[in-house]
Amino acid sequence: MTILYSGIGELVTNDPTAGDGSALGIISDAALVVDGDRIAWVGQRANAPDADESLDFGESSVIPGFVDSHAHLVFAGERSAEFAARMSGQAYAAGGIATTVAATRAASDRTLAGGVGRLANELVRGGVTTFETKSGYGLTVVDESRSLQVASEFTTETTYLGAHVVPKEFHENRDAYVDLVTGPMLDACAPLARWIDVFCDKGAFDVDESRAILNAGVAAGLIPRLHAGQLGPGAGIRLAVELGAASVDHCTYASDDDLEALAGAAGTTVATLLPGAEFSTRAKWPDARRFIEAGATVALATDCNPGSSYTTSMSFCIAVAVRDMNFTPAQALWSATRGGAAALRRDDIGVLAVGRRADFVRLDAPSYIHLAYRPGVPLIGDVVSSGRLLTHRP
Ligand SMILES: [Zn+2]
Repeated sequence: MTILYSGIGELVTNDPTAGDGSALGIISDAALVVDGDRIAWVGQRANAPDADESLDFGESSVIPGFVDSHAHLVFAGERSAEFAARMSGQAYAAGGIATTVAATRAASDRTLAGGVGRLANELVRGGVTTFETKSGYGLTVVDESRSLQVASEFTTETTYLGAHVVPKEFHENRDAYVDLVTGPMLDACAPLARWIDVFCDKGAFDVDESRAILNAGVAAGLIPRLHAGQLGPGAGIRLAVELGAASVDHCTYASDDDLEALAGAAGTTVATLLPGAEFSTRAKWPDARRFIEAGATVALATDCNPGSSYTTSMSFCIAVAVRDMNFTPAQALWSATRGGAAALRRDDIGVLAVGRRADFVRLDAPSYIHLAYRPGVPLIGDVVSSGRLLTHRP
């Protein structure tokens, strides 16, 4: 069955060969036709073909569905008091993860799945049509593999993050934990994951440990990605480039050498910036202009997690990215859609063109610029995911 979506005042396609010829490929007075879960036609409404059904979008702006390429949704427990303490002057440290690890280990599968379902629902209502999620709060063979089992009920973009932090029972014997992460834990988790990730930063894993863990993951058929440069400078970003990781995430402390490496790997390794983390830890902002002017491919993601960025809102991330990280509104939207797709090595999403997945969002606004111009306002109108209209606010 085909559906014609007409009355699109502004259609952001992310197809630079369409519309105004910019990276966002904007078509004015547009329409699109969906056939099943795919886009069958895109263009100016005056030229639109007939379809079995039609829906008028009342001159709204339509954008590709957000692609959240970095989230930690499988956890239990409550850490709002820690946030309040931090906002009262305490510093953020990676060790806070231990609180969530204890709660996650104690939780049933049903509790964990209920938590992921609640956050997944928030993501969708916020216009996210594809999201990644990681393990990393179990840190035992059983708890990491059941975390990934739960995650895989909600997304195909699952990431094994056994190397989130060294759990306290291994503090006196780090090497034994790395052996576990690269041995029995990897064996149990690899069949349930597409990606492998490591938190390469002070208080977590060093560069040599990270290299060993990612190489073991690659040998087990997983694709590497990396947390690096969040808490201080280091060699993590260059390690991600060296290993051909799909993405290196945070990059708050990227040096000029790091930017040069990222620019040289722009077709392979995406730099994913996570404004929710800087916001929620009151950390310094990375300057996106440096990345973009250097020639790096940049994504924006929520980093949704209970410690350092407990938001599922890509609209919020865009507003903050524009206000405090020197993205233009156009760059921020591209990074939250096409950039996220690149960070997940997906070419079926993030672009509204014939044959791509029918994932798009109608904004209650005439232009995508309103996502940053009207911060905190619920502008997500309709969400269409794989051709299905999931929400409709008439
Ligand atoms: Zn993260």
